[in-house]
Amino acid sequence: MKKIKNIIELKEIIDKSQSIVLVNKTKLGLSNLHMIEEEYNQANKTSLKKFLSKQFFYNQPKIFFENYKKYIFGNNFLFNFDYLKKLEKQGKLKNIIDLNIDGIFTLKGFNNVIQLYGDIHKNYCIKCHKEFSLNYIKEYIGTVRCDLCNGLVKPNVTLPNEIILKSLLEKALFAIEKADLLLMLETPINNYPISNFIISSKKTLLITDKRTSKDIYLDYIYYADVLETLAKLNKKEVRK
Ligand SMILES: [Zn+2]
Repeated sequence: MKKIKNIIELKEIIDKSQSIVLVNKTKLGLSNLHMIEEEYNQANKTSLKKFLSKQFFYNQPKIFFENYKKYIFGNNFLFNFDYLKKLEKQGKLKNIIDLNIDGIFTLKGFNNVIQLYGDIHKNYCIKCHKEFSLNYIKEYIGTVRCDLCNGLVKPNVTLPNEIILKSLLEKALFAIEKADLLLMLETPINNYPISNFIISSKKTLLITDKRTSKDIYLDYIYYADVLETLAKLNKKEVRK
């Protein structure tokens, strides 16, 4: 593992890469429901993950939707996308694997986004499969039901006790195997399936402000705030 000392060194590594796959789990996005428990429990006594589980969706949908709406509509996006846009325009950024569920990269016009845990913009009736927008969820009072058949409307996100779609996982691994750099933003590297991503990659680079004992398994690591780093990388003249 090589610790990158400054932003110039970081920029050199990224500049040298011809095909990059980005894995994002930056804290300001809307986290996937698998990984929120720890974050949420630090601030609250009860487990949000439990209320967002498959059991609650099917057996107590009222409680599920109360928590789901509170969770997905209580976030703001402050991400700086300019540098990543530049990389995509240069043809270097091939895929984005988003571990969050806000679908923000698609909204911002990025191509080839893999929403590993789904995204909140897609919702469907579990009975007749009619599709619904995020607005439908937002404006619906109480348990969200289909306007055709009264079936439950399920957000197309992977709930904590559901597994990631195999086809999405395969797509992600295929992209990573082809790339020469796996660039990870605040990604929990000891978490499944990230550990598999690391094994399948040619070169790994993590930007994070949290240190873990697993960091030694990476090729490069840059300890810094992700948003600040992306803003610095975006400047024409990069200074230490
Ligand atoms: Zn329906």
